[in-house]
Amino acid sequence: MDIKNKTVHELKNMLDKKETTSVEITKDYLNRIGEVEEKVQAFITVTEDVALKQAEISDNKRKNGEKLGALEGIPMAIKDNMCTDGILTTCGSKILNNFIPPYNATVVDKLNNAGCVLLGKTNMDEFAMGSSTETSYYKKTKNPWDLNRVPGGSSGGSAAAVAANEAPFALGSDTGGSIRQPAHYCGLVGMKPTYGSVSRYGLVAFASSLDQIGTFTKDVHDMALIMNNIVGHDPKDSTSYPQEHPDFTNALNQDIKGMKIALPKEFFGHGINEEVRIAIMNVSKKYESMGATIEEVSMPMSDYALSVYYIIACAEASSNLARYDGVRFGYRAKDVESLDDLYKKTRSEGFGDEVKRRIMLGTYVLSSGYYDAYYKKAQQVRTLINDEFDKIFDKYDMILTPTGPTVAFEFGKNSDNPLEMYMNDICTVPINIAGVPAMSMNCGFDSQGMPIGMQLVGKHFDEFGIIKLAHAMERELGLDNGAGL
Ligand code: GLN
Repeated sequence: MDIKNKTVHELKNMLDKKETTSVEITKDYLNRIGEVEEKVQAFITVTEDVALKQAEISDNKRKNGEKLGALEGIPMAIKDNMCTDGILTTCGSKILNNFIPPYNATVVDKLNNAGCVLLGKTNMDEFAMGSSTETSYYKKTKNPWDLNRVPGGSSGGSAAAVAANEAPFALGSDTGGSIRQPAHYCGLVGMKPTYGSVSRYGLVAFASSLDQIGTFTKDVHDMALIMNNIVGHDPKDSTSYPQEHPDFTNALNQDIKGMKIALPKEFFGHGINEEVRIAIMNVSKKYESMGATIEEVSMPMSDYALSVYYIIACAEASSNLARYDGVRFGYRAKDVESLDDLYKKTRSEGFGDEVKRRIMLGTYVLSSGYYDAYYKKAQQVRTLINDEFDKIFDKYDMILTPTGPTVAFEFGKNSDNPLEMYMNDICTVPINIAGVPAMSMNCGFDSQGMPIGMQLVGKHFDEFGIIKLAHAMERELGLDNGAGL
């Protein structure tokens, strides 16, 4: 079978009609990985044996008429910061180069129960810190649309795997844009759900008040299907929200007449590439012609979002990463003279530059004398940013923005300049600060054929509304999202 550009819902149909089997599909994806992985480098670990075994079990269930999961027999890729029982989970870091978790993250359990088959664990920026996947200790993942460019980050491996047809869908995590920005760079649909709607249990923590797991898919329909299977309350995560969710596929093929969309002018300001701006304005005109109302608004507090994000994210990271001490798990330095020396050497050798930079920034903003000036102030501004979102959502159903200022950039362009790299997150971080849901979807291509993403931001727990608007635009644009690799 030709799996190129096959969606989850197409595969599901074929399986339901018995036109193929999970083993056949899984082998096709494993072959594809064998074919292109040398170029793309999306995976840290390919779990061929696990995949074939799970696929066989799934096919037997189908054969024996047993109760089937909602995604029975569908292969998937998982970002390497989600724990997988008995399978290496590195978080892109040397410090976890030997960490084999004894349990599954809740999302992995949920997808296993839904019948999914694990193809492997994907490459990522070390501890999800980065916007290009270049800070991974293991490899450099390439953008399947142009191998000289980055796939975005930090979930670059998951994005590249789906764009290169090495997996029909993948999970990523998004602390400040790490699903939406790579989805934008790789021409995919990337969804970051509302904070608290998908369990973080078993997700290696970066910045706990911002981290959220979400999806990479080829289209909006697939995203709705996967969301149906990962959203939900989990008693193992104290920030997980106890709320029933609707069937997200009911948001497909809906009329969007009368919906009110806000276009915040600050997201179209400095640094936004002209071709990106034009693509989003084109989308806005199309929404208008479909019966939605579009109004320009101002969100002046979002100008502070990047500073607030890098203070809060680094503060939380410095605390979360204190556990990597060479004693309990992970990498341990050799030839040490004392316990202090063990800590120092393990952390010096185990962490990369970006992680060290953030731990230093984080401990600085939390230290006595600076706490009030930086951390406390950032928390206060966080409240103001939240209030600003609330105010917009009192009047509007949705916010439309670019996902990032530019299309995918070339390797090395920003890696020597952390501030330039941080600027890539300017459109995505305000959303994590407010905890609202947002997704990126391809809405066109620049003059060099690179995909451009649009971002839809909804009210808390209004993933349904996002899917409705996104699907309407996907139908209208009818773009071919094949990376041509
Ligand atoms: N690029 C942002 C950062 O470096 C976001 C990362 C993320 O969402 N995990 O922190």
